[in-house]
Amino acid sequence: MIVDLDANASLRPSFSLGERLLAEWSRLGNPSAVHRLGQQSRATVERGRYAIRKLLNLSVHDRVVFTSGATEANNLALYCLSKREGRIVSSSIEHPCILEPLKRLSHSGRSLCLVKPTTYGEIVPQSVLEAIDTETSFISIMAANNETGVINDLKGIASQIRSQSESIIIHTDAAQLCGKSFVDFQDLGVDLLTLSGHKMGALSGVGALVVREGYEVEPLVLGGPQEEKVRGGTENVLGILSMALVVEELIETLAHRIQTMKTARDYFEERIIADVSGIKINSLECPRLPNTSSIYVEGVRADDLLVALDLEGIMVSTGAACSSGKIDPSHVLLEMGRSETEARSTIRVSFRGDEDRKLVDYVVPIFERAVARMRANEL
Ligand code: PLP
Repeated sequence: MIVDLDANASLRPSFSLGERLLAEWSRLGNPSAVHRLGQQSRATVERGRYAIRKLLNLSVHDRVVFTSGATEANNLALYCLSKREGRIVSSSIEHPCILEPLKRLSHSGRSLCLVKPTTYGEIVPQSVLEAIDTETSFISIMAANNETGVINDLKGIASQIRSQSESIIIHTDAAQLCGKSFVDFQDLGVDLLTLSGHKMGALSGVGALVVREGYEVEPLVLGGPQEEKVRGGTENVLGILSMALVVEELIETLAHRIQTMKTARDYFEERIIADVSGIKINSLECPRLPNTSSIYVEGVRADDLLVALDLEGIMVSTGAACSSGKIDPSHVLLEMGRSETEARSTIRVSFRGDEDRKLVDYVVPIFERAVARMRANEL
C-alpha cells in the first residue's frame, strides 16, 4: 500500500478532479481569443477568480491575479508592490520564495529586518511591532509555516501595525493556510495574500496574489495585457480550472476537511507518543494547521527514516532543504533554537484529509519498527 503523508509538499489532486479536468480540457483554449473557444476559456478563468473571491470573502474591487504558483505570487508582491523606498520587515522562518527575493533586495541596498520566531515557532505580533520603524513600508509574514504548521496571528499583527501606521503594506504568504483553515481576507486586515493551487488539491503550476482594492501593481512578468496588464503570458487555463473546481468544493466542504485532517493527525500523534519512545511533537503550544505534525525522533536521522519509510510505501518529508548535493538542516527549526542534531532528527507528517484511523493504525507500527531498527543500527 502507498500512503502519502506529505500533503504540505503537494496535496495531490483527487481522482475525481482528474476526471473532471479530462472532461473539460479539450474545450479550453486561449482566453484572449475572440472566438467561442476563447470565450469559454475566459469564462473558466473568471470562474476561478469568482470562486477565490467567495472562499476568501473578497470585496468586489479586490483583485485576484493568477500566477504560476505561490513562488511567483510572493515574488510579485515583494518586487512589484514593495517597490517604494523603505524598510521591509519579514520573518526568518519564511519559505525560501520569500527569503531569496528578500536577500536580493537587501543586497541591492534595501533595508531589511527579519523577525525571529519564539521557541515554539510562532511570529508574535509584539515582535513584528518592535521591528517596525518610521522607515518601514512593507511587511511580509507567513500565515502558517509549512514545516511546523504553526498558524501566526496575522489578524493581531495587522491590527497592531495599523494602529502604528496606515501606510505600511501588509502581505501574507497563505499558501499553507488556505484549504486547511477558514480565511477571511477582510477580517484578516492584510493588503496582499498569496495562494498556491497544489497546496489546496489543485494542479501545481498555478496560484494567485490577492491584492486589496486601491493598490497599483506593476507586472513582474512582462508581455501581453493578460490579467489586467499585471501578468503577461497566456493564462494556465487548465490549472485555473483545477483551482476553480477545488475551491468550489472547499466552499462546501472545508469544515469537514479540517475535521478529518485533525482527527487523523491527532490520533497519529497520540499513538506515536504512546508507542514510540523519545518522540517530541514540535509547536504543540501554538495554534497549528489541522493536518501537520513536526516530529523530533531522538537518536534517528530524519533523512534515513524518510528513506526507510519510503521503502515501506509511506511518504513523509524532512524540513531539510537539499542544496548543492548536501542536506541542510531546516532553517525553521534552527531559528526556533533547535540544535543541528535535533533539526536533523525531525520529520514532517502532513495529512491530506481523506485518512481514517485504520490507516493510522497501519502506519504507526511500521514507523515504530523503522525507528527501532535504526536505533539498533540495523538500517
Ligand atoms: N509558500 C509556502 C509557505 C510554501 O509551503 C510553498 C511550497 O512549499 C510555497 C510558498 C511555494 O509554493 P508554489 O509551489 O506554489 O510555488
